[in-house]
Amino acid sequence: MLCGPAGSGKSAFAAQRFTPTSIVSSDYCRALICDDENNQQVNRDTFDLFYFIIQKRMYLGRFTVADSTALHSATRRRLRAQSRQSGYYGCLLIFNTPPEICLARNSLRSRNVEEQVIPYHAGLLQQTLLDAPSEGWDQVHVSGIDDTDALIEVEP
Ligand code: ATP
Ligand code: MG
Repeated sequence: MLCGPAGSGKSAFAAQRFTPTSIVSSDYCRALICDDENNQQVNRDTFDLFYFIIQKRMYLGRFTVADSTALHSATRRRLRAQSRQSGYYGCLLIFNTPPEICLARNSLRSRNVEEQVIPYHAGLLQQTLLDAPSEGWDQVHVSGIDDTDALIEVEP
C-alpha cells in the first residue's frame, strides 16, 4: 500500500516499478466513474470501486499495489484487514516528501490538486508516521526524496 501527500510521487514511483494492471489507483477509479480524476463529489463511488478491484485481485492472489493517499488510519486499517483476510503480506510504503516539494511538483503536473490540500496532507503524514508501526503491517518503509532509486523486490 502506497501512502503519502498529493504530489509526493506515489504514482510516478509505482509506474516505474510495477506493471500497470497491478496498480489500483484511486484517481483512476475516480476517472472511470466520472471522467474527472479531480472530482471529489464521487469519493464514495470511487473508493467502493477501489476496494472492490483490490478485493477481486486478492481473491485471485494477484500482486496488488494500492495507490491512494491513504493518510487516514481507518483507511489503512481497512485495507490491511482486507489483505490479511486474503493471506497477503502487507507492506506499507510511506512517501515522506516535504510539503514544499509536493507543492512544486503539484504545480508542474497537468492534474493539480488545490494548493491548500498539501499542508493539510503534511499534517496527516506526521500522524501517519506515528501510527503506522502499530497498524499490523508486515513491513513499513518510509521513503524520503533521496530514495527515488529504491529497488522493490517481491518474492513469490
Ligand atoms: P496524488 O496523490 O495527487 O496522486 P502522487 O503522490 O501520485 O500524487 P505523482 O503524480 O506521482 O504524485 O507525482 C507528482 C508530480 O511529481 C508528477 O508530475 C511526477 O512526475 C513528479 N515526480 C514524482 N516523483 C518525482 C521525483 N522523484 N522527482 C521529480 N519529480 C517527481
Ligand atoms: Mg497519484
